[in-house]
Amino acid sequence: VAKREGRNRSHFFSAEILHAIEARHHLEQRLRRALKNQEFRLHFQPRIDAERRSLTGLEALVRWQVPGEPLIAPGAFIPVAEETGLIVPLGEWVLETACHQARSWLDGLGVAIPVSVNIASPQFAHPDFVAHVERTLSASRLPPHLLELEITESMLIGNAAQARDRLQTLKALGVRLSIDDFGTGYSSLSYLKLLPVDTLKIDRSFVRDLTTDHNDLAIVSAVIGIAGALGLQVMAEGVETAEQAQALIGLGCRGMQGFYFARPMPSEDVPSWLRGWAPAILVPMLGAE
Ligand code: C2E
Ligand code: MG
Ligand code: MG
Ligand code: MG
Repeated sequence: VAKREGRNRSHFFSAEILHAIEARHHLEQRLRRALKNQEFRLHFQPRIDAERRSLTGLEALVRWQVPGEPLIAPGAFIPVAEETGLIVPLGEWVLETACHQARSWLDGLGVAIPVSVNIASPQFAHPDFVAHVERTLSASRLPPHLLELEITESMLIGNAAQARDRLQTLKALGVRLSIDDFGTGYSSLSYLKLLPVDTLKIDRSFVRDLTTDHNDLAIVSAVIGIAGALGLQVMAEGVETAEQAQALIGLGCRGMQGFYFARPMPSEDVPSWLRGWAPAILVPMLGAE
C-alpha cells in the first residue's frame, strides 16, 4: 500500500510540475505575441518633492493590455519575462518608449520631466545594454540627465566589478542612477560609496508601518542618515497617507512617491495631472495651451 501511495504521489507531483511547465510555456508564447502585437503600455507615477510640493520626475511602469481584458500588472509577467530572456526586448521597448515620451513632453509642453525606468537583472547583464541606452538617448534626443535608471541590489552582487564598470559608463553618459527597493536585497553598505548612484529608493515595506512600528522607523531613519552622509538623495516609495508623508518630512526625507500623491497613470493623463498638481509652477510653462 505504501508503495502504491508513493507511486501515486509521484504521479501527482509530476502532473503538477508538467502543468506548471505548460502554463509557463503558454505564458512565454503569449508574451512573445504581445511584444509583436504591441500590447504593452507604460503608465507613469509622479515622484514628488513633498516639502516644495513640486514634481521631481515620473517613474515608467509597464502594463500588459490584452485587447478586451483588464490591464495585467507587471508582477504577473516580469518574472517569466526575466526567466525566458524576453525581458531584453521588452526592456528595450520600455526604455525607448519612456525616452520618447519624455522628449515629447519636453517639446509639446515645454516641461523637462525626468523619467525613471526599471532595469531587470538580465537586462543589465546583457552585453548590449549600455550601447542600447546610448542609442536610445540619441535616437530620442533626450538630454541624458532627464533619464534615470532604477537598478536593484541584486545586480550588484555576483560580478561586482563588472557592475561597477557598467554603472560608471552609464554615469559618464550623464544618466542618473538609483537603487530601487533599497533595504530588501542582500547588500553591504560598503558598495554604496563605490558606486556612482544618485538616489536610494526606500522600499515601501519599510514605509507602510512607519508611523506605528519602531523598527521600521529606525530603519528608515538610518537609511536617510546614511544617504545624507554619503551625499545621496533619498526617495520613499509607497507613501499612502498624510501621516507617512509628515513622518518622512520630519526625518528629513522629501522625495516621495505613492498613492497619497498620485497613482500611476497613462501618458495622456499626465498634462492635466500636472496642471492640477502644481499650476503655479507649470501653467506659465504650458504657455498658450
Ligand atoms: P517598483 O519599481 O518598486 O515600482 C513601484 C510599484 O509600487 C508599482 O507597482 C507601483 O504601482 C506601486 N506603488 C506605488 N505607490 C504605491 C503605494 O502608495 N502603495 C502601494 N501599495 N503600491 C504603490 P507596479 O506598477 O505593479 O510594479 C511592480 C514592480 O514591477 C515594480 O516595482 C518593478 O520592480 C516591476 N516593473 C514595473 N515596470 C517594469 C519595467 O518596465 N521593467 C522592469 N524590469 N520591471 C518593471
Ligand atoms: Mg522602480
Ligand atoms: Mg523595481
Ligand atoms: Mg521599488
